[in-house]
Amino acid sequence: MPLSFAAMPLNLLSKMSDDFESTPQMPVLFLGHGSPMNAIEENAFVKGFREVSRRIPKPNAILCISAHWETEGTFVTAMPSPRTIHDFGGFPKALYDVQYPASGSPELAEITQKLVQSTQVMADYHWGLDHGAWSVIKHLFPKADVPVIQLSLDQRQPVSYHYQLAKELSVLRNKGVLIVGSGNMVHNLRMVAWDKLNVAGFGFDWALEAREKMNKMIIDGNHQGLVHYQDYGRAFQLAVPSPEHYLPLLYVLAQQQPGDYVSLFNDEAVAGSLTMTSVLINQSA
Ligand code: ZN
Repeated sequence: MPLSFAAMPLNLLSKMSDDFESTPQMPVLFLGHGSPMNAIEENAFVKGFREVSRRIPKPNAILCISAHWETEGTFVTAMPSPRTIHDFGGFPKALYDVQYPASGSPELAEITQKLVQSTQVMADYHWGLDHGAWSVIKHLFPKADVPVIQLSLDQRQPVSYHYQLAKELSVLRNKGVLIVGSGNMVHNLRMVAWDKLNVAGFGFDWALEAREKMNKMIIDGNHQGLVHYQDYGRAFQLAVPSPEHYLPLLYVLAQQQPGDYVSLFNDEAVAGSLTMTSVLINQSA
């Protein structure tokens, strides 16, 4: 049991046991979200999200770390009914029409604030669910019947900080909370091969090299290697030109416990400079 949990006030502990009953260890997911159009398209990636949802017990709530919520300081959404944010431009009306009316969970937000002791996690009442969250979670739980909260990325902090902060959330796996990181491990929008959008699996050499090395470190449990990705040369520099789509992966890997199985799915390059590679961490194979 982490110290931070042991140090929690008694009234909060009893609250947790009332509303977030102890459960077997929940799985943890990193989802490569790619284009917002994946929210409404039918394709192999969407099938992959749906398939993985069948391997996951229905959670009490979801805590999502999305590439698309960067802040100064760390925030958690605390409103009872988060809005669906259409945080993109130039897409068809059908995408703007999507609503994902999952409720929030002010209680889980409060628990998250208390669990994290290394910094003050502040309650947010303005954000909601950005497309990093809803475009993928809607495929896991299409009925929107699982409450969802988001935790922001403090853009001022170094990579290792995010991995350490994530460790403080580990007790949530035993409270029926599904932790979902949403980003893309290889994500360089400036180098997208627009003429090869429809060429299945197309990746530039550096993207494929970074993907292969990242995948190996994930499977080997080499988290420190992944935290120090900036030391791995040109392929990684091009694959991760800015950290926001990569960091949600570290929030997920930080939840891994001895004996967990780690598997990859949707492991494909798209448009040269993106990968959709997603990760399931689970107690059983
Ligand atoms: Zn994105």
